[in-house]
Amino acid sequence: MRYYILNIFLIIAGMAELVDARDSKSRDGDIMSVRVRFPVPKNRNKGSTMTVSDCVFCKIIARKLPAEIVAETDDVIVIKDIYPKAPIHYLIIPKKHITDLRSLEQADMSVVGKILLMVKKIAEQLSGSKAFRLISNNGLDVGQTVFHLHFHFLSGKKMLDF
Ligand code: 5GP
Ligand code: ZN
Repeated sequence: MRYYILNIFLIIAGMAELVDARDSKSRDGDIMSVRVRFPVPKNRNKGSTMTVSDCVFCKIIARKLPAEIVAETDDVIVIKDIYPKAPIHYLIIPKKHITDLRSLEQADMSVVGKILLMVKKIAEQLSGSKAFRLISNNGLDVGQTVFHLHFHFLSGKKMLDF
């Protein structure tokens, strides 16, 4: 009964979808059973269908959304991650909307080089010779949430967990 009430609450709150509802008999009498499903958040499912018009990084590049910009060239922008996972957490982003590394084309090769040169520049600006980690998530299954190619630049703490 407790789960029945909880499930009804989740449906009313819009957090779950009704999958199945039925009456069933038990030793204690009638039990109403309700099965619910939690939908995948809409943006997480977009994957490669995310386009320039609904891409958060394209909006930041076009100054339609605010961001803390660390560096910028004609082809690359570097912003602070809104949810930093290290004391220094930058996102290095090509201005061209490229979904991920799997969709790179021959014509994108020069921008890839420019991204890596930007990494070097940012690394040089870190005080001392601080170590850093560079990560790129490619695809839903490894946690990519923004489907515009980007590299996480992480530094400022020990990261020996990989
Ligand atoms: P992914 O999960 O795709 O590898 O990385 C996307 C990153 O973008 C996440 O670390 C997330 O915190 C960051 N992010 C998402 N939306 C925004 C935003 O509007 N502004 C900034 N600065 N970062 C964002
Ligand atoms: Zn984009």
